[in-house]
Amino acid sequence: MCIFCKIIAGEIPCSKIYEDESSLAFLDIKPVNLGHVLIIPKKHYQDLEEIPAEELASLIKVVKKIGELIKTKLRAEAYNLSENNGPLAGQIIPHLHFHIVPRYLNDHIELWPSREFEQCDFEEVKNKLLS
Ligand code: 5GP
Ligand code: ZN
Repeated sequence: MCIFCKIIAGEIPCSKIYEDESSLAFLDIKPVNLGHVLIIPKKHYQDLEEIPAEELASLIKVVKKIGELIKTKLRAEAYNLSENNGPLAGQIIPHLHFHIVPRYLNDHIELWPSREFEQCDFEEVKNKLLS
């Protein structure tokens, strides 16, 4: 059983923020910023490819609800929403989860750097995606 399934089963404690029949939201144990929340489906799906679209729709509604909580209750100016989809993308826990990280003025959290590519690279990738 994965660590998040153990949290759902109550075998590992968590700081629960929200729960319904299909979803759970709780504080990340090693937050990027205070109020960093993880939102997970109660059924074990590894990633976005595995979860059926209807279940993802329910989960994303919970993500929206938690985002609103972060802004109203924690008075965050904004938040970052992310999902590391696959180990190479930084997914450590193999149970689909969305991260919500509250953002405040001057909180010194840096986003990904952008990079320069040639126009032909854009053409090539666009053609691959459209083929
Ligand atoms: P990932 O890198 O898989 O996208 O993110 C996994 C997240 O789960 C990390 O931010 C990590 O801090 C968090 N995490 C790992 N184990 C636990 C745990 O036992 N309890 C809680 N609340 N968070 C955890
Ligand atoms: Zn699991």
